[in-house]
Amino acid sequence: MSHFKIRWNHFALKLKHTFTISRSSRTEVPVMFIELEKDGIIGFGEASPNARYDETPEKVEAVFAGLNPEIFDSVNTPEEVEQALDALNIDVHCARFAIEMAWLDWWAKSQGQPLWKLWGAETPVGPVTSFTIGIDTVENMVLKIKEADQYPVYKVKLGTDHDHEIIKAIRSVTDKPIRVDANEGWKTVEQAVEEIDFLNGMDIELIEQPMPSSQFNDMVVLKSKATVPLAADESFIGDEDLEELSEGFHVINIKLMKIASLVKAKRVLDNAHALGLKVMIGCMIESSLANAAGALLGLWADYVDLDGHVLISNDPFTGLTINGKGQIELSHEPGFGISKR
Ligand code: MG
Repeated sequence: MSHFKIRWNHFALKLKHTFTISRSSRTEVPVMFIELEKDGIIGFGEASPNARYDETPEKVEAVFAGLNPEIFDSVNTPEEVEQALDALNIDVHCARFAIEMAWLDWWAKSQGQPLWKLWGAETPVGPVTSFTIGIDTVENMVLKIKEADQYPVYKVKLGTDHDHEIIKAIRSVTDKPIRVDANEGWKTVEQAVEEIDFLNGMDIELIEQPMPSSQFNDMVVLKSKATVPLAADESFIGDEDLEELSEGFHVINIKLMKIASLVKAKRVLDNAHALGLKVMIGCMIESSLANAAGALLGLWADYVDLDGHVLISNDPFTGLTINGKGQIELSHEPGFGISKR
């Protein structure tokens, strides 16, 4: 039996604008790409390591280097690749995701089919994606809104001492739906309620992670007082009890790099919907390769925030589009429909 050849490489994604959230500021993001090749077919995967969870490119590389291609010998379905990788107990989530993604890409390509079709989606066109405006001076944030005129929805990062000024200035130049990401910026229920009421008055559609993930009990109180839907991002990695989460949030944000598996993510999305939770698909700073996996999941989601690849200036892949209506759209090519530039 022939085995997969496994290759990987480091890559630095360059950001068009220095990207600032309430925790940090960056101009470049290191990612890793992996390829699984067999029978003349290559499957692509991407890992975007998250410093919050102590992930580094070196740790990702160690996982890739230690991967024994024989584990795929008896793998023939998405469920089987999920099980085979679960058995390895890979603790670097983005690395586990990248390997699974590469196998899924290879598997769909080996059948000459786009994965969205094999998974039963009727169309490769998903919801409109929001475009993220990072923290900057008020003037620059307004400028970025104007520059991003082709996007129908904005996501504005907050957590500064002049959040009101930012939102008022942005609202004065656009009527489009605005989502806000506080990235755990508000520390008490009182402060959060005050901010949420202000944002409700500014016609904000959704607020992501108002308070620190360590303050879940406060989130439960906050949800009962909130006048705008609240989404769990830092509060949701992938294994949390969804029923419990629904007491503190209206929406969960699934990010593939955190949940570590696209196959699992689809199941979690269905379970969340069954509990009345809405689902947003988010991303890290990543190329259009990994974002194509997010876009696939986004075909079943309520909200999509998949702009990671448009925030960078050196995307090495092509095949994922944001169409004229601002919807994220996969190609009709086999696998994830992504190829190297
Ligand atoms: Mg977020």
